[in-house]
Amino acid sequence: PYDVLVVGAGPAGTSAAIYAARKGIRTGLIAERFGGQVNDTLSIENLISVKHTEGPKLATALEEHAKEYPIDIMKSVRAAKLEKKDLIEVTLDNGAVLKSKTVVIATGARWRNLNVPGEQEFKNKGVAYCPHCDGPLFAGKQVAVVGGGNSGVEAAIDLAGVASHVTLFEFMPELKADQVLQDRLYSLPNVTVHKNAQVKEITGSSKMEGITYIDRETGEEHHLPMDGVFVQIGLVPNTEWLEGVLERNRMGEIIVDERGATSIPGVFAAGDCTNSPYKQIIISMGSGATAALSAFDHIIRN
Ligand code: FAD
Repeated sequence: PYDVLVVGAGPAGTSAAIYAARKGIRTGLIAERFGGQVNDTLSIENLISVKHTEGPKLATALEEHAKEYPIDIMKSVRAAKLEKKDLIEVTLDNGAVLKSKTVVIATGARWRNLNVPGEQEFKNKGVAYCPHCDGPLFAGKQVAVVGGGNSGVEAAIDLAGVASHVTLFEFMPELKADQVLQDRLYSLPNVTVHKNAQVKEITGSSKMEGITYIDRETGEEHHLPMDGVFVQIGLVPNTEWLEGVLERNRMGEIIVDERGATSIPGVFAAGDCTNSPYKQIIISMGSGATAALSAFDHIIRN
């Protein structure tokens, strides 16, 4: 059996595996895809001490760093089930069962897509998902935000400080964000809100140039020129495989304490799959380290 089995090889999982291996304990890493979401981004400028890198480059660096240690890396497999018996058992999608004294879950999350024409085509060419990451690229430009929940309204407030103008689209007749956020949003001079608006298409040629939306009240179609759009309609944690096994919140995020401990003793979690606030690379790496050290602590005490 492993001492620590890490599930997921994004920033959180890779960090957890390296921290565990550095303790000289038997470490396994289920690495369906090294780098996780990092692969989907072009430019990364907020990984402190690295002025600029690119997603695929960082993903390769994560893999190379993990390979410096005697970590048992299992590529291209997914965890399908977790059970607490004498040891913790993780069943893979190929049927294999792995046993471990402790497990660190770091299966990350995925941004919900709009699924409209142009979204895939203009990803990283105007279409963005993370205001903390890509906001500064739109300084002085016209940007849109899709989604009127807390994350959408926070994004619009944030972007209003850098962009020349922000247009927020909400599908429903009302915004769902907290009232304080809505009040702040409506107090800003360079923000326009379109409620009851369905984004139909993102248009452009070599990069995104505009948004077409339908006013759901009148059925009329409108088009606005736009340099960028931030899609903020939800971040979905990859925790479906843990349903009924671990305590999760209403969004499906694994509930962890400050040590990364979950509701099952010996099972820890880190990164975007947890209820920790702010989903970022540096934060995921930190929480992966925390979870691995907590797992080590659990082993020496049990
Ligand atoms: P992930 O990166 O999501 O990795 C989880 C891994 O687990 C994946 O490889 C996944 O395939 C795997 N997995 C899922 N389910 C299973 C399973 N059942 N079994 C085994 N493996 C599984 N953050 C920044 O700090 N700066 C940026 O500039 C930035 N830009 C971004 C741009 C985009 C387009 C996106 C989508 C995100 C961006 N982020 C950025 C956010 C950042 O990528 C995430 O916060 C970070 O990758 C989370 O790390 P993680 O390890 O928790 O999860």
